[in-house]
Amino acid sequence: MADVTPLTTQCCIAGGGPAGLMLGFLLARAGVDVIVLEKHKDFLRDFRGDTIHPSTLTILQDLGLLEEFLKLPHDEISELSGDVYGTVVTLADFRHVPAPRPFLVLVPQWDFLDFIADHARRLPRFHLLMETKAERVVEENGRIVGVEVSQGERRFRIACDLLVAADGRHTTIRESAGLQVNDIGAPIDVLWFRVPRDAERHPSRTGGILRPGAMLVMLDRSSYWQCAFVIPKGSMDKLQAEGLQRFRERIAAVAPFLTPELQALASWDDIKLLGVQITDLPHWSRPGLLCIGDAAHAMSPVGGVGINLAIQDAVAAANLLADPLREGRLTTHDLERVQKRRRWAARVTQRAQVAVQDEVLSPVLARQDAPQAPPLAVRMLQRFPRLRRLPARLVGIGVRPERVETGPAHG
Ligand SMILES: Cc1cc2nc3c(=O)[nH]c(=O)nc-3n(C[C@H](O)[C@H](O)[C@H](O)COP(=O)(O)OP(=O)(O)OC[C@H]3O[C@@H](n4cnc5c(N)ncnc54)[C@H](O)[C@@H]3O)c2cc1C
Repeated sequence: MADVTPLTTQCCIAGGGPAGLMLGFLLARAGVDVIVLEKHKDFLRDFRGDTIHPSTLTILQDLGLLEEFLKLPHDEISELSGDVYGTVVTLADFRHVPAPRPFLVLVPQWDFLDFIADHARRLPRFHLLMETKAERVVEENGRIVGVEVSQGERRFRIACDLLVAADGRHTTIRESAGLQVNDIGAPIDVLWFRVPRDAERHPSRTGGILRPGAMLVMLDRSSYWQCAFVIPKGSMDKLQAEGLQRFRERIAAVAPFLTPELQALASWDDIKLLGVQITDLPHWSRPGLLCIGDAAHAMSPVGGVGINLAIQDAVAAANLLADPLREGRLTTHDLERVQKRRRWAARVTQRAQVAVQDEVLSPVLARQDAPQAPPLAVRMLQRFPRLRRLPARLVGIGVRPERVETGPAHG
């Protein structure tokens, strides 16, 4: 295995997801030398979070990038609706959220990441190493002083003042630093798959369909539906044992208009299991190391808030760390301030997700027959439309929203 000369930087970020790329961009923009490591050769991620919320649109506006971002092909969602046991209801109304644009943007995650990476690459202090895997932390006298990385057969070290673990929920860096996570657990898993969309026959509606024992979320992607089928945790083996035709029938029972298109599911390879996890990290940092995004708090897909929380972490970290990093005076206390600011927001959001999982999703999956009427909360939202602003605010803006405070771009 060939070795190359070690590199040195002020901040090395493991992971080029929403958290890592946004933090790299913000720090480089604030004059900090940054290397971002991404183990894949591109940002193509199928079946991951694709929703950009008003809170993130606010960040893009702070950066002067909002108008350009909105030129990317995307869909705008002003209302979230659902079909609850046969009654179509509106659950959230984003038109009143305090943001430069009051809607959710549906855009493939890779387009969003490419967009941020393109802008970051224009900054002289930003360096993105693709197909480069962060293997483990390098530690000296109890302090993380760098990271060991691999590029194919090559292995080398990057020395840094700060290593950031933004390598997602299956983080290797957090593990190698010995930081222990609490698994809060989740009663559901999600199966993702695509089904062709017949524009003439299919209603154009992004939303969920609830039926006794089943929940299907459908994202309208013009030529196809991106579908998420919620199942009880650990039940994938049972579904597979029943066979693919039975699975198609289960989906068709929820969305009969999809029946012909479901033949496009030719094998189980077309269906991707995503095991839902909710985790909480009691200590986000060690001297020289900080965890953010899913590496610090894996989120349930409920509300589709994961990308946006990861970005909020990145903005808070940049606001608090850019000056000390640039001036070479970073302390452990600075890192702890990031956790202090963001862990509360993540925990509050996770608690809301757990409540939805336990009070809504699990009972729906356990039901044998439809109730006489939609649940009380849903009926209230129909009777008092102003109430729909509350879920919109929780999902679209969240708790403790961040603004970019790192000032204008450094030359
Ligand atoms: C089923 C499902 C549906 C979801 N739907 C939504 C949604 O609709 N909206 C939403 O906002 N969120 C959603 N989420 C959550 C969202 O995808 C995550 O919360 C978000 O992507 C977290 O961002 P991150 O940057 O922390 O981590 P990730 O997005 O996981 O990014 C980590 C990056 O690090 C790279 N990496 C990993 N290990 C290494 C390594 N050792 N070295 C170098 N690179 C490495 C990975 O390739 C990846 O690019 C969903 C999640 C799931 C599981």
